Amino acid sequence: MLALAVFSLAAADKPADKPKAAETVHGKLIVRAGQPPAIETPEHQLVQLDGDQPTRKVLHDPRVNGFDVEAHGHFTAPGQFLIDPQHTRSLLVHDHDKLKMITYWCDVCYIRAYAPGPCVCCQKDTEVELRDLDDIR
Ligand SMILES: [Zn+2]
Repeated sequence: MLALAVFSLAAADKPADKPKAAETVHGKLIVRAGQPPAIETPEHQLVQLDGDQPTRKVLHDPRVNGFDVEAHGHFTAPGQFLIDPQHTRSLLVHDHDKLKMITYWCDVCYIRAYAPGPCVCCQKDTEVELRDLDDIR
């Protein structure tokens, strides 16, 4: 019995053997004023997105509209998808065959943020920058 428990714990750690709740949605980000953010899948289905506070801010940034993304999380209802917390790198952009994270960069202070808005230091508007996962911390 104990051996079985240890085995299932180890199995849960492997990315190839995720728990059932973990799902991925892939497609084009649709960010339009007055509409909930969504992903349009290759099958032209719209999946509405929600997430934690920084993820929501990113999802309401019109500059990310049209990005080819994959979101990790789980469906809360048909057509409704809750993205995992942002620190798990749950929202990724396909950019030239690479997976990148949406970040926000102040080129005055060299400060990086993970949600859109004014720079915490100089208040200048930050720029969207897609960043290689290897280049983040
Ligand atoms: Zn700044």
